[in-house]
Amino acid sequence: MFSDSGYSNGYCHPQEGGAPPEHSALRPPHRGRGRRRGRRGRSQDPADAPASGASRVADSEQRVEQKPPPCTDFDVAYFHSYAHLGIHEEMIKDRVRTETYRAAIMRNQSSIAGKVVVDVGCGTGILSIFCAQAGAKRVYAVDASDIAVQANEVVKANNLSDTVIVLHGRVEDVEIDEEVDVIISEWMGYMLLYESMLGSVITARDRWLKPGGLILPSNATLYMAPVTHSDRYGDSIDFWRNVYGIDMSAMLPLAKQCAFEEPCIETITGENVLTWPHVVKHVDSYTVTLGELESVTTKYKFKSMMRAPLHGFAFWFDVEFNGPAISPANNHVSSSFIESSNNQSADVSQRKKRANPSEALVLSTAPEDSPTHWQQTMVYFYDPIDLEQDQLIDGSLTLTQSRENRRFMNIHLEYTSGGRSFVKESVMR
Ligand code: SAH
Repeated sequence: MFSDSGYSNGYCHPQEGGAPPEHSALRPPHRGRGRRRGRRGRSQDPADAPASGASRVADSEQRVEQKPPPCTDFDVAYFHSYAHLGIHEEMIKDRVRTETYRAAIMRNQSSIAGKVVVDVGCGTGILSIFCAQAGAKRVYAVDASDIAVQANEVVKANNLSDTVIVLHGRVEDVEIDEEVDVIISEWMGYMLLYESMLGSVITARDRWLKPGGLILPSNATLYMAPVTHSDRYGDSIDFWRNVYGIDMSAMLPLAKQCAFEEPCIETITGENVLTWPHVVKHVDSYTVTLGELESVTTKYKFKSMMRAPLHGFAFWFDVEFNGPAISPANNHVSSSFIESSNNQSADVSQRKKRANPSEALVLSTAPEDSPTHWQQTMVYFYDPIDLEQDQLIDGSLTLTQSRENRRFMNIHLEYTSGGRSFVKESVMR
């Protein structure tokens, strides 16, 4: 792809494009991507993972039990990465995240007090403890990572052992001997779907949630928008044109590949964004299915609001915490971009209509909102496209769970502007 003769801005036409080979083993993480990656491999047999002490309700008439998916070596490494306290510290110190969850729990206190809750992926146990503080009768705090051992100690030290039951195992494997009223989970990965944890929330919902039960968050939306970011491009690429007076332009193809082959987790601002975002995927926690998440495709069309070099696309998400009764219908949108948007590109069926804002509590990772540890996910082009004001950019995006490791995500991006068409394939691993 980057040979001298074949190198054409790093793009190729769809017919010629092929996904880069996926790696057969977990690689060390890139700096700055501490969370949500398999950071260290673990040779331990996944079957050795501790089983839960609870037993699951045997209600074969109402629940069709599916055989749990195998716990792969990738999953073992993934859970091992969550045994490291640093990841949890980063998440807990993200006050936007943690305080929004706490506010959501308190706002839904009437649905939680006296009720049974499952915390899917409890980590340190913080959300389970918030639920106990909100008056939950019982909280099943489930985590397959060894962090569950510490969570149990925290629960004991806070005299909550009668309320919070820590189950050290996969949600797919542990047994809970009753139906539950509430599912809470902080499952969102970079670009919302990276890491594929939502599938475990779906599993918990289908195994244990009572009809009419509450799921927090109730829905989630992934957005994309074209961005200009000359400083970033200059730092990584133009830098090589003059290095202490030496022309190192020969490095340019390699610099572009190294800097932009994979998605980057970075913070941008609203000023980098060239026009209103497009909704890539809206997920309703009550109805989303596992199959729906295997591959997500969207077509988009943007009209640049200014003359600027287009460096790539930014992705971000928000999640909402609505009560069960209003969840499917109440579609408040947090982003100020969307609120005033006349987004010509969004599929009408995907668009969310503004409802009573006082009803919705939103955790947003948009560039114009307070930063979070998720930042934004950037997919940069190898070479910018010079856009005129009102110039159209259209194309399609497909996000696919990697067949090799469903926690990796293949990103297939097609885009056309000014009569030129390109494809960029990348893998988020
Ligand atoms: N709820 C905590 C931690 C969120 S991070 C908090 O808000 O701070 C996600 C956690 O989910 C990790 O600890 C990870 O080990 C756990 N997890 C992910 N998938 C899981 C699964 N299928 N079963 C059990 N735990 C899971």
